[in-house]
Amino acid sequence: MARQTGPVCRLCRREGMKLYLKGDRCYSEKCAVEKRNYPPGQKARGRRKVTEYGLQLREKQRTRRVYGVYERQFRHYFDQAERQQGITGENLLRLLERRLDNVVYRLGFARSRADARQLVRHGHFTVNGKRINMPSYHVNSGDEIAVQERSRELPLFAGIAETAAQKTPPSWLEVDLERMQGRVLGLPAREDIDIPIQEHLIVELYSR
Ligand code: SF4
Repeated sequence: MARQTGPVCRLCRREGMKLYLKGDRCYSEKCAVEKRNYPPGQKARGRRKVTEYGLQLREKQRTRRVYGVYERQFRHYFDQAERQQGITGENLLRLLERRLDNVVYRLGFARSRADARQLVRHGHFTVNGKRINMPSYHVNSGDEIAVQERSRELPLFAGIAETAAQKTPPSWLEVDLERMQGRVLGLPAREDIDIPIQEHLIVELYSR
């Protein structure tokens, strides 16, 4: 499981897009991408031409950073996606989307994927009534994800319903804020994944 240390806004600037790593700040005018939408480092402003390999590499790094997974784990997802039927790139994104930390974030129970990862790690969530503390756990169609009963009163979750109410979960998820739980209605389709990723570049990179 990847833990990002250091100034994460630099990563967004490096990738030239919002990766939403900082929760509420990402939606405010304080966002570094809004203020300085160019790569960090003075020399970066006059960047040289990007090669095809460079483009493919950037796309992979960007995707990895959005979901917060290490290289080895990412490669493992890719191998798994390749073995599945269908389009490899889409399979890869689907595997990433089905991670429990991503689902907790998508349901609105955390302000960022990094927060979601932490909350899952600390055992605040159950899947089908069973406590799961593995952020990489893959949810399946029909699964019920809930904030653990004794965690619901924690200050940590105070106001979470308010935050969640401002978000609309993707069509493959359903949220019940009163009961602090959500349900997986089906597996995500490509059009449900709203992150601007060109997954074919990742496939090309790993097919070199
Ligand atoms: Fe990225 Fe959020 Fe920082 Fe903006 S505020 S640069 S989206 S981490």
